[in-house]
Amino acid sequence: MSHGFVSVEGLGKSFPSPGKEDDLIVFNDVNISIDKGEFVCIIGHSGCGKSTILNVLAGLDQPSEGGVIMDGKEVSGPSLDRGVVFQNYSLMPWLTALQNVTFGVKARYPKWSKAEVEAHSLKYLEMVGLKDTCKRKPSQLSGGMRQRVSIARAFATQPKLLLLDEPFGALDALTRGIIQDELIKIWGESQQTVFMITHDVDEAILLADRVLLMTNGPEAKVAESVTINLPRPRTRAEIIEHPGYYKIRNHLVNFLVERSNRKEEFSGLSGQPLVVDPTLEVDAQPEVNSIEINTNTTNTNEPSLSLKSVNV
Ligand code: ADP
Ligand code: MG
Repeated sequence: MSHGFVSVEGLGKSFPSPGKEDDLIVFNDVNISIDKGEFVCIIGHSGCGKSTILNVLAGLDQPSEGGVIMDGKEVSGPSLDRGVVFQNYSLMPWLTALQNVTFGVKARYPKWSKAEVEAHSLKYLEMVGLKDTCKRKPSQLSGGMRQRVSIARAFATQPKLLLLDEPFGALDALTRGIIQDELIKIWGESQQTVFMITHDVDEAILLADRVLLMTNGPEAKVAESVTINLPRPRTRAEIIEHPGYYKIRNHLVNFLVERSNRKEEFSGLSGQPLVVDPTLEVDAQPEVNSIEINTNTTNTNEPSLSLKSVNV
């Protein structure tokens, strides 16, 4: 396989199953390559191992098989080169929003003066609309505001890789939309490499350059890599008007609803192109079916799907 900026190679995770001779294999032979500056989302049903993969990428969990190489070095533990945003905000409750951000920035840039650290941190809090409330403690902020602090903190430390584990999962749809817009803006400015778990198909299409689809566990696999070739900058309002939007959306939803459990379809990964739609341009690789959906043609039989997110 090609070695990208981040290279996940032959990753597997298993646990001993009580009373059984064989281990429970959560996932195996997971191969992912991420380019510098790429925004990759991963989608799959609950329990297939997404958070475990993200934690291995972060250096917080150990795989049973395989490993991760980032920027030419094997990932063997946590590092300031990798920033993580979890679903539950994980702010330090005794510090203000600003102090939560400066804490990480100070660790990252120990030679900076206090004023430099503060100005840099405030810039990121401003990007997420929290400059005026930066003196508040987490208990004085709403859930959405706390998650914005987490995002500002993660971006402010300018890690080489940003790992987001369903960062908006606990937010209401309106707040989520606002923070998604902020994330697009901040990512557009920073060109960070991002690996994000989401259960929201629309969110993945809005944000990602590529969406990885995982089959259900046990023995889950990354079965497909779907390129989201919709033009940027993207906005939630405009993206749904694009003729290719529903083609991509239908493909992802179809995978999650119909195909994620059909293991035989992906077993062996023989490299045979997987054609599920005649308009799909398929570029099969040995490890994973890489798919680019032709979004240039107008979709005449566009289904009247509701815009409600498909949650899995
Ligand atoms: P996801 O994020 O896709 O929902 P996780 O990575 O959190 O999935 O978990 C993957 C699977 O690993 C789950 O099915 C979970 O039950 C299993 N698992 C996690 N920790 C353990 C453990 N200590 N022992 C046995 N199974 C575990
Ligand atoms: Mg998870």
